[in-house]
Amino acid sequence: MKPFQYLRPKTVQEAVTMATDNPEAQYIAGGTNLVDLMKRGIASPSKLIDINHLPLKKIEHRYDRLRIGALVLNSDLAQHKAVLTRQPLLAQALLAGASGQLRNMATVGGNLLQRTRCSYFYDLALPCNKRKPGAGCGAEEGINRTHAIFFAGNGFGGIEKSSCIAVHPSDMCVALTALETTVVINGPDGERRVMMKDFHRLSTQQPELDTNLGPGELVTAIEVVDNAFAKHSHYLKVRDRASYAFALVSVAAALQMDGGRIWDARMALGGVAHKPWRYWSIDLMLRGQVPSEKLFREVAEHEMEGAKATAQNAFKIKLASNAMVAALKTAAGIS
Ligand code: SF4
Repeated sequence: MKPFQYLRPKTVQEAVTMATDNPEAQYIAGGTNLVDLMKRGIASPSKLIDINHLPLKKIEHRYDRLRIGALVLNSDLAQHKAVLTRQPLLAQALLAGASGQLRNMATVGGNLLQRTRCSYFYDLALPCNKRKPGAGCGAEEGINRTHAIFFAGNGFGGIEKSSCIAVHPSDMCVALTALETTVVINGPDGERRVMMKDFHRLSTQQPELDTNLGPGELVTAIEVVDNAFAKHSHYLKVRDRASYAFALVSVAAALQMDGGRIWDARMALGGVAHKPWRYWSIDLMLRGQVPSEKLFREVAEHEMEGAKATAQNAFKIKLASNAMVAALKTAAGIS
C-alpha cells in the first residue's frame, strides 16, 4: 500500500478545505470498501481524511422529512423506529445488503459512494475503463453474467455507447431512488442538494466517475420526505446465494393505495444499470388502477422493452420482469 498522510478534521468545513485542493485526497468513514481498494492498489490517496469525528450521526424527523446523517451506520438506520414506521422500504433494503458485520461498520455516506464489484475493476492485470480510462472494458467480451441490461440509451438511436457495463452495487440506493431521496452535500461553495436520480452517473463519458460530486465535496446527510407508501412497499433482492451476495436484480416497489385502487406508485431496480434504475412511467401506468397480476405483468414487460442483454445475462431480462411483478404483488398485498 502506498504511504499516505492521515488527517482528522474537527468540522465539516475543515474537512472540505483539506480535500478541495488535493485531487488525490479521499474521505474515509467505515472504510469497508476503500480499505480493500487501497490494499489492492486500486485507490492510492495521498491524504486520507478521517471524517468519523464529524457531527453527522443523527437521525431526526424535522417538519415533513427524515434527515439521516452521513455517518449513521447501516445497522443503526435499519433498526431505527422512525425508519421502520415511516420508511420500511429503506429498512428492508438495508437488511438485504452486505453482512451484519459490514452493516455495523458501513455508513450511509459510504453506502452511497461504494464502488462497483465488477471483478475486472479489482484485477490490476485486466483492462478496465473505470480503473484506467481508455484501457478498454474487459467485461464487454468477457465474463458479464452479472452486468447491466440498461445503459445510456443502449447505443440505440445515435446515443453514445456506454464505456462501462458494470452495475451499481448498493441495495440502499435502490430504495432511496424509489423514495425520491435528496442528498445533502457540503463543498467549497457551501451546501447544495441533489436528488438521488442525479447523484449517480451513467457511463457514456468518464466511466471512472460514479457520482456527480465535485472536488472536495462531502455528503453530509440524506433526506426522505414523508410519503404514504409505508403500508404498501416491498424490497425484493434476487441473488445467487441467500446472504452476503450482491443483487442479480433487485426491486424497490412502493404503492399508495386507497379503496382497493392504486393512487401513486414508485419503482426502482438494482443490478441492472450503472446507477439505480428508476422507472418514471410506472406511476402513470398504475395510478387509479385496481391491482392485479395481469396489470403488473403488463407494466413490467413494458418497462423491460429498453433492456439489452450482454452475451451472458439475457436471463436478467426475464428475471427482472418477474421480480417486478412479485415485488408489486407483495406491496399491493395480493397473492
Ligand atoms: Fe471496468 Fe466497467 Fe468494464 Fe467492469 S464493466 S471492466 S468496471 S469498465
